[in-house]
Amino acid sequence: MPEIKEIYCVTCPKGCKLSVLMEGEKILEVKHGCKRGTDYAHEELIHPKRMVATSVQLDGGMHPLVAVYTDKPIDKTLIHPLLARLREVHVPAPVKMGDILLENALDSGVNVLASRSVERKGG
Ligand code: SF4
Repeated sequence: MPEIKEIYCVTCPKGCKLSVLMEGEKILEVKHGCKRGTDYAHEELIHPKRMVATSVQLDGGMHPLVAVYTDKPIDKTLIHPLLARLREVHVPAPVKMGDILLENALDSGVNVLASRSVERKGG
């Protein structure tokens, strides 16, 4: 039986409240938004994605950890597996901001990059 879900579109500052008619996993109609809002509703309700920011262990660096982020949003179902994978990652210092520290994480096509530069300890 169809049901209506209401979500806020965050694609632009207008922040429209979308009314989405769904039947199971299928979107039948999106009301109160533009075409981009319809695309947003499909992505958010069918294949939601998020940016991830965390840190990984840095060997021989001025700090024990380096902050990292995904270069694009990753499927929400992969967030916990990605965080578990990143807990195992050790990278050697130094690192430069923007270095790819984990390429094609979990075969998702998403890379994990260093958020900042960190020098080697003592030099
Ligand atoms: S539905 Fe369109 S106008 Fe409304 S917030 Fe989304 S992108 Fe902006």
